[in-house]
Amino acid sequence: MSRTFGPTSAPPIPDPSVLEGVTAPTFAYLPDPSPLFARRAARFRHLAQNHPLSPYLTFLAGLSEAQHAAIAATPAPEPVEAAQVERARANEMPPLDRSHFTTDAAFDTLFERALAEATKIEQPEAARTALERVRMASDVARGEMIRNVLASSIPEEALAEHLYVAAALEVHFARLASQLDASRLVPVGDGVCPTCGGPPVGSLIVNWPTAHGARYCACALCGTLWNFVRVRCTACGSTAGIGYQEVEGGNGAVKAETCDTCHAYSKVFYLAQDDGLDPVADDVASLALDIKQKDGSYRRAAFNPFLLGY
Ligand SMILES: [Zn+2]
Ligand SMILES: [Zn+2]
Repeated sequence: MSRTFGPTSAPPIPDPSVLEGVTAPTFAYLPDPSPLFARRAARFRHLAQNHPLSPYLTFLAGLSEAQHAAIAATPAPEPVEAAQVERARANEMPPLDRSHFTTDAAFDTLFERALAEATKIEQPEAARTALERVRMASDVARGEMIRNVLASSIPEEALAEHLYVAAALEVHFARLASQLDASRLVPVGDGVCPTCGGPPVGSLIVNWPTAHGARYCACALCGTLWNFVRVRCTACGSTAGIGYQEVEGGNGAVKAETCDTCHAYSKVFYLAQDDGLDPVADDVASLALDIKQKDGSYRRAAFNPFLLGY
């Protein structure tokens, strides 16, 4: 059974007879797609208030609303076969194989609907032109954009087009993920989503009653959250040479975890400081932290197709 994650739907309070710290945190939480995108839209709108990136954050709120509307208007995809899930588990592989992803009728319907919903967003002319290019793209060109997003490798000259493609893929993969059984997922590698094999957008230090202070990486594509060691590089797995930075005057809700082993950084979001945090929305809104790192010696390890060019 899938389970919503986040502060409004944290795991239930445990049996009080279970001593704190004795139970291991649940390994993974799968997304509940409809509330996920609705909540993200609301978060983008909230973050857009008095923010230097306000127009862009408002646009992304509209895009998240388009994702949410597309879910309501299209049938769910066929669930991944149980045998494939068990095969993946036996081989310590993610059950959703993004490198062999092929489109099907359910995805095509969703894609068209998501693009149609996106036309309703108020957006600058350049964005609207990019959206039209995606809508008019041949199957071959569309397939190439899909592969780019799934490979976390987006060409600089077509960032805007890929943003819409990523939005559709996020919905599709979140829906596939939501149909899985979280208890059948296994760790598949440092900084790798146990559901779809993708990189995290960042990680959350949660304040849930059952896992207070535990850390969960958040998948940029399918929305799975998976448990990760609190002080450890999500890019290379090193536990040595880890440091934390934040922008001047920050409230402690977002920090960059830097690694002196691989010279990468990724963002850590602290729900105790702000329990409305969304890893995707707050990643975009904390662009100042990425700009600060541009002059430093650490490269960004995380992937977020909405953080254009980073
Ligand atoms: Zn994933
Ligand atoms: Zn590292």
